[in-house]
Amino acid sequence: MAENNAAKDAAMEMAESARETEWKFPSFTAEMFRGNFRWDLLHPYPEQDPEDKRIGDELIEKTREVMEQHDPILLDETGVFPQATLDGLAKIGLFGMKISKEYGGLGLTQWNYARLLRFMGSYCQTTVTYVSAHQSIGVPQPLKLFGTKEQKQKFLPRLAAGEISAFALTEPDVGSDPAKMSTSATPTEDGSHYLINGTKLWCTNGPDSKLMVVMAQTPPLQKNGKEIKQISTFVVETESEGVELLHRCNFMGLHGLSNGLIKFTNVKVPAENMIGKPGMGLKIALTTLNAGRLGIPAASTGTLAGLIEPIQDWVTSRVQWGVPIGRHQSISKKIAGMVADIFAMDALVYLACSFADRANADIRLEAAAAKYFCTETSHRVLDELIQVRGGRGFETDTSLYNRGERPMPVNRFARDGRVGRIFEGSSEVMHLIMAREAMDTHFKLVMPLMMPKPGQKESKLSLIWNAFKFYSTWYPSLYMPSSTDFNVKHLDGACQEHLAYAARTSKRLARSLFHTMAKFGPKLEFEQILLSHFVEIGVDLFVMGCCLAKAEQLLDKNPKDKTPVELADLWCKGARERIEDHFRKVKHNHNSDYNKVAKAMMEGKYNWMASDVFGDLPPKYRDWAQKTPSLANSEDRELQQASTES
Ligand SMILES: Cc1cc2nc3c(=O)[nH]c(=O)nc-3n(C[C@H](O)[C@H](O)[C@H](O)COP(=O)(O)OP(=O)(O)OC[C@H]3O[C@@H](n4cnc5c(N)ncnc54)[C@H](O)[C@@H]3O)c2cc1C
Repeated sequence: MAENNAAKDAAMEMAESARETEWKFPSFTAEMFRGNFRWDLLHPYPEQDPEDKRIGDELIEKTREVMEQHDPILLDETGVFPQATLDGLAKIGLFGMKISKEYGGLGLTQWNYARLLRFMGSYCQTTVTYVSAHQSIGVPQPLKLFGTKEQKQKFLPRLAAGEISAFALTEPDVGSDPAKMSTSATPTEDGSHYLINGTKLWCTNGPDSKLMVVMAQTPPLQKNGKEIKQISTFVVETESEGVELLHRCNFMGLHGLSNGLIKFTNVKVPAENMIGKPGMGLKIALTTLNAGRLGIPAASTGTLAGLIEPIQDWVTSRVQWGVPIGRHQSISKKIAGMVADIFAMDALVYLACSFADRANADIRLEAAAAKYFCTETSHRVLDELIQVRGGRGFETDTSLYNRGERPMPVNRFARDGRVGRIFEGSSEVMHLIMAREAMDTHFKLVMPLMMPKPGQKESKLSLIWNAFKFYSTWYPSLYMPSSTDFNVKHLDGACQEHLAYAARTSKRLARSLFHTMAKFGPKLEFEQILLSHFVEIGVDLFVMGCCLAKAEQLLDKNPKDKTPVELADLWCKGARERIEDHFRKVKHNHNSDYNKVAKAMMEGKYNWMASDVFGDLPPKYRDWAQKTPSLANSEDRELQQASTES
């Protein structure tokens, strides 16, 4: 058990050291968790610059021409990705969307990048994953953030011209916790090269890529008699000797995605291909993922927006019990929720993109909120749309067409989109990131007092004084009424009340979070269910702000069109119900019952219910289970044993 805790502590310490610790620019969400609803950061809702819009419009048209030749239905059925699509996209420069013009790219703003991914996400999610894995997390992004001029000159023009890149972080034994990776990069004797050894799993674009960002362990540092693990990042040419595609992975959706298990055996990489300094690897990986996180939400918004017209057609033309099904209240609720959700997703995505473009806001929380909110929402809505389509929601497009009915890609989109909640940081990990950042102020002020680190410089007295100075003004301020001067001209009474609710509720959120922290102290970290309520409240308040700012902007442009305010109002009403429910569950819950039953389940105490079942594999395949233990790593099996016994 001690070993178990030590391993966990080491992983946490490493993840913590890879975090951005400074808040150089304001973050709407971070401020909100401190009780400060910074409406001034959301309103007036940003507008895309007309010249930038023209660039985006033109590129969307060019992309449309390429995509019209691409058949996503055939791709879904055969799993064969057409090379012509990649060639066509490369020709119009789509592999250089985020690479600056200086290096031969299109130098798109984040806003236009999101528009492009949204557009492609409404048509073929395999293609959008290809394109976004290349630029959101593949070689362009870490080089843009951390590369030297020489590295940029060497690699970016090749990538802008269409060479595909991949991002190799995950390994068979490490996913959400990459700090424990085992791939190694050992310097050669003369220091001119590194030899990479290890295996990387689920590398999107890996089988087709020419260049890959690979995270690997370099020799550890010795500090104060302690060994400090170093993870570093390299650009690897996939044609180098020793790079081997062991297996092409296939999935429940995203058929035809180029994805593989890749083995590196003594792959010789020039030392100058290291991005950043030794030991910066995890920070580079996490920062790359932070910045890249806005791509997936944009694509998932497009997926839903593309279904508005087909679903409208379906719910008005399908008549059951004498009326169109859209008029049965159970269906009305789903389709009304769908359009309100799309409005909210768009409002959130473009606001976060404008923060990223202006480069005067810290977007790590907003990007995590966007990834979490958009992928969870699109998954829920797509599942509801399968329901709205009834039996047709379960039938394939081709089958529908072959018997003479209009196909709608609802179930293909649902299968393709499901992985959005898992890759580039799972929803649970987004919760952890947001919870950690939400408590950052308190961590900085209180943790050095509660859990002093060895070698901590500040005296206890000065720590107490700093905490006192902050809390003596901050805490009473949470009981002061919030300002109601929102400087809005068009929002109706209901929406203005939503705004006032959001402002006062962010104070309530900060109070409740603080009280909970005072109650649990450092143990709060283990109260994930409790923390998730705070995160959910925070996300909903942020999205309420986005919806209201967006509605005000659209009304300002066209006061006669009340549709934006209807959508914002409906979305905010739903959010307020959820928020009140979360506050209730912070106070009254049965979280300890979950812990108890889950522990018993892990010990096999409920296996009696597994009688009269067939087992997971047909008899013919039973030896598969013996040949492939669920945990490949023996150290992990021991830890699992220890934690079940404890
Ligand atoms: C189609 C596809 C494409 C991918 N592309 C790439 C790629 O290009 N490059 C790359 O490096 N990786 C890629 N991945 C890997 C992906 O990023 C990982 O699947 C993801 O990070 C989760 O890791 P895991 O699957 O090992 O799950 P695990 O880490 O084993 O987690 C299993 C479950 O436990 C939860 N969990 C884990 N830790 C915690 C915790 N501390 N608290 C609460 N819950 C927790 C997770 O959220 C998840 O629900 C891809 C995966 C897929 C399926």
